[in-house]
Amino acid sequence: MSNATGRGLADAAFPPVPFGTDVPWSNWGGNQHATPAFTVRPTTEQEALDAVRFAIKEGLPVRAVGSGHSSSPLVQTGGVLMDMSALAGITGTDPGRRRARARAGTTINAFGDPLWEQGLALANQGDIDKQQIAGALSTSTHGSGIGLGSFSSALRWVRLIDGHGEIVEIGEGQLRELRAAQVALGTLGIFLEVELAVEDAYYLQEEITYPEWDETVAGWDADIAGNRHYSFLWCPGEGSAELLDLPGAPGERMANRSYTKRYNVVELKDESGISGVEGKRLDRSYRIYPGGFTTPFHELEYFVPVEHGLAATEAIQDLIRTRHPEQQYPVEVRWVKADEGYLSQFQGRDTTVITLTTEPGTDYWAFFRDADALLQEFEPRAHWGKIHFMSRSRLERLYPGLDTFLEVRREFDPRGVFLNDHTRALLG
Ligand SMILES: Cc1cc2nc3c(=O)[nH]c(=O)nc-3n(C[C@H](O)[C@H](O)[C@H](O)COP(=O)(O)OP(=O)(O)OC[C@H]3O[C@@H](n4cnc5c(N)ncnc54)[C@H](O)[C@@H]3O)c2cc1C
Repeated sequence: MSNATGRGLADAAFPPVPFGTDVPWSNWGGNQHATPAFTVRPTTEQEALDAVRFAIKEGLPVRAVGSGHSSSPLVQTGGVLMDMSALAGITGTDPGRRRARARAGTTINAFGDPLWEQGLALANQGDIDKQQIAGALSTSTHGSGIGLGSFSSALRWVRLIDGHGEIVEIGEGQLRELRAAQVALGTLGIFLEVELAVEDAYYLQEEITYPEWDETVAGWDADIAGNRHYSFLWCPGEGSAELLDLPGAPGERMANRSYTKRYNVVELKDESGISGVEGKRLDRSYRIYPGGFTTPFHELEYFVPVEHGLAATEAIQDLIRTRHPEQQYPVEVRWVKADEGYLSQFQGRDTTVITLTTEPGTDYWAFFRDADALLQEFEPRAHWGKIHFMSRSRLERLYPGLDTFLEVRREFDPRGVFLNDHTRALLG
């Protein structure tokens, strides 16, 4: 077996790159841990390839880690952990076709300035910008806006190391494989470089309001349809906003109000119009989207068809009021456009996203299990990167493209090099 580099599996030598052995790993939220036999941080594609070939030769499994922001057991491996942070940087832009290429370890915030200099911007961003792009793609990370897709929906090309120990490319001419690669939980192989569809650079105007719940309900459809980005964080109690450092409503009680965000595009002739006034900021798009959180939390995030969004949100509110009043974190509600990735939470349906946030170190399992049971009537899908109760039988029921995904996965990785216990149970 050989590849473009002319080297093959038989050449895989130890150590292919400086390895750490038995280095403990844990995620951002502190709820996932592993001690891989080898940890490697490749600085070139060749080093990444050598590491995968070494693992294949030794019969070791391989998992990639991005920024470690997933709170589900995606990254754990007892074999080779590939820290992809050194394979980073924008590798090309094509303003005419509105495309950008980047190495897999490029963080979302590292797209901002280089794309802007070329007159381009990411179409949307989520609540933080710390994730590596391959990590964000692998779990269908999203922002909010019913007209805007997830990061995965923007993937147009990828260069990866597959389970045969080869570097291969998937482009738009291979839709079957591309739809598998768009959301793959790291199971097709190690992403090295990706190409995303992006947009012409744009400025966003922020509007923050604090409506009572009945006002939010009254404006439900108009707000979803009428704003580029619309989302809110409903506060069950007076102390809720503080738990996520949200500025409260000046002079108002926050219980049963929502911290509500609207971002819409505005034209700006020059940047003298940029404003940093809290709640009314006007800036380049990537500076308006949030950056990060310093205090860890744990989340469960469910996705229901948009027509059930209000009923599902009110069901969660009732659950907190009646059975889990100890849960005081704001409940976040967002919207995402339907897409085509076989494992995408948004596959084939415009979606309302409901996020439940809890405090590490507390016993939130009964709350999460009750929420899971309660939302079943709405056929919820779950965020792959957050705590969830997804099983193979649920996957078979909720993802019509699952069989095609599994076929592609087995073609790319017949020996299951890139599976761990969690992904084997779901996708083996
Ligand atoms: C504070 C916080 C805020 C968040 N906000 C949002 C939000 O607004 N919207 C949202 O949708 N999600 C959000 N998330 C979830 C987060 O976006 C996802 O969990 C995302 O996958 C994390 O990216 P990462 O780079 O940390 O990847 P990791 O968590 O390190 O890895 C995720 C998956 O990607 C795979 N992977 C990583 N790199 C590669 C590679 N090079 N090749 C192949 N596979 C790879 C890993 O194996 C793993 O399966 C948030 C999480 C946190 C902790």
